[in-house]
Order: sequence, then structure tokens, then C-alpha cells
Amino acid sequence: MAARLLDGKSLAAQVRVAVKREVEALAQRGIRPGLAVLLAGENPASRVYVRNKVRACEETGVRSDLYELPASVSEEALVDRVLALNDDPDIHGILVQLPLPKQVDAHEVLETIAPAKDIDGFHESNLGALLAGRPRMVPCTPAGVMRLLEHAGVPLAGSHAVVIGRSNIVGKPLALLLLQRDATVTLCHSKSRDLENLARSADILVAAVGRAKLVTGRMVKPGACVIDVGVNRLSDGSLAGDVDFAAASEVAGWITPVPGGVGPMTIAMLLENCVRAAGASK
Ligand code: NAD
Repeated sequence: MAARLLDGKSLAAQVRVAVKREVEALAQRGIRPGLAVLLAGENPASRVYVRNKVRACEETGVRSDLYELPASVSEEALVDRVLALNDDPDIHGILVQLPLPKQVDAHEVLETIAPAKDIDGFHESNLGALLAGRPRMVPCTPAGVMRLLEHAGVPLAGSHAVVIGRSNIVGKPLALLLLQRDATVTLCHSKSRDLENLARSADILVAAVGRAKLVTGRMVKPGACVIDVGVNRLSDGSLAGDVDFAAASEVAGWITPVPGGVGPMTIAMLLENCVRAAGASK
């Protein structure tokens, strides 16, 4: 294997140590960071994500309150819950696990979260701040990708970054963060023509689609940095990213594994955002 592995698991562990120290420092000021997690319905993947987030809070001394709501929950009930948490001085971060049940407009619920407690960074005011080049709460997965790139010393300024996937939670904010670091960014999506050639021109190639083996070895420029955000459950029950790891790692200069790449960094950035929100609260 030619590529160097970008080990998100180990970097996330380092971030968690720093978070723990921050939690101890905040305790001196009489503050205990508190996270509220709202989980609606029975989506098994959401349950796993939430369990991992709650466990990471426990390990670092962040208080976490989990609100489990039925799949039949109304939008009004969720909005009321968020409004109450906005006013709770012991809660510094509010996380609404997506997707929400179909009768609920997720946008309405996310826009109800006080921007200072929006540790996922999905509120329009936080996304707008990012667009304006003055990031406040940055969405956790893109923030985790940037931390991985910075930690590995991957050159950003002047490089061509190709991001596949344009969601509000991954692709779009990541494109903005890369642009802010002076990369030349191409943002691709399901209607993009000639994805293969676009991908092959990338110094930094990010796949955030949700389709196993979308990125083949032929789509990777020799020496490029390949970041695999995708999480796909295969028929044998195992997890795979969007990149054909075996083929791409023969060509790439750096590559993230799945699992153990971007996933752990997402949770680490969530903890960081929560502790930062707590620190700014008094
Ligand atoms: P999404 O479904 O909201 O967006 C997918 C994007 O992929 C869309 O912009 C769409 O245009 C694009 N797309 C679809 N088919 C395509 C194709 N054939 N070619 C090019 N682009 C195509 O998904 P999302 O919420 O951004 O998540 C993307 C993936 O990342 C999923 O697998 C998700 O599970 C994973 N994810 C992982 C983490 C993590 O922490 N590791 C966090 C968030 C999301």
C-alpha cells in the first residue's frame, strides 16, 4: 500500500484528551459543559450514532441528557423541547439527531436552536457566518476533515480540492472551509458531468455521497489525498465508505479508512464545539 493512512481514531483520541483538560479548567470556573441530544423514532443507525456521542461525553466529563421521543412526535413538541433547552443555563449544546420523522420539518426544528447552542453548526446564522468567512459553530464532519488534513500537513493553499456531495451538513460547508484555506474547490453532485475526470484532477478528493465504491482507483490522481466521508452498510453487515479503499490506497498519497477515519473526528469536533459553547456561556 502506497498511501499514508490518516488515522482519525488516534487523532480523535488526542482531541478528547484536550477536551477533558478543558472540562477540568471549566470546572474551576464552576461550569460543567452540558449537551442535550434529541432522538426521535427508531432509526437503528441514528441510535448507534447517538450512543457513540453520549459515550464520548461520559468519557470526557461532558454532561449529556438524552431525550428519546416516539416516531409519532409532532413538530410542535420538538420545537417546544428545543425552546425549553434554549433557556436552560446548564445546557450549552443542543443536538437534534437527523433524520427526523417525516411529519416533522427538520429545518424548522434546527432553526429553533439558539445559534450559540447549535453545536452541529446547522443553523442558518452559523452557516451564513461560515459563508462570510467568519466561522462560529462549524459543522462537525467538515471540521473533522479539516483537522485531519491540517494534522497530516496536507498542502491546502493552491491545491485543487474536489468535493463529491453537496449536502448542507458535509459537502457545502467543507467546500467553504477548503476555500477559506486557499484551495481551489470544485463541488460535485449527482448531476455533475464527467465525475471521473474531475476527480482525477484533484489534489484533495473528498467523497461524501453514501454509495459504496463510487470512487474507484482510476479516479484518484497519483499522490492525492483521499478523504472518505461515506458510511455504507454492506449486505454482509460490514461498514464501507464511498471509496474503493484497496484500489485507491495503491495510488493515493494519503487516505482515510472507514471505519476509523472521519467518523471519530466528527464526534471529537462535537465535543470541542460543546466545550467551546460552555466556555463562552458566562
Ligand atoms: P446526502 O444524501 O444529504 O447528500 C449526498 C450528496 O451526494 C448529494 O449532494 C448528491 O447530489 C450527491 N450524489 C448522489 N449520488 C451521486 C453520484 N452518483 N455522483 C456524485 N454525487 C452524487 O448525504 P450526506 O448527509 O452529505 O452524507 C453523505 C455520506 O456521508 C453518507 O454516507 C453519510 O452516512 C456519510 N456521513 C458520514 C459522517 C461521518 O461522521 N463519517 C457524517 C455525516 C455523513
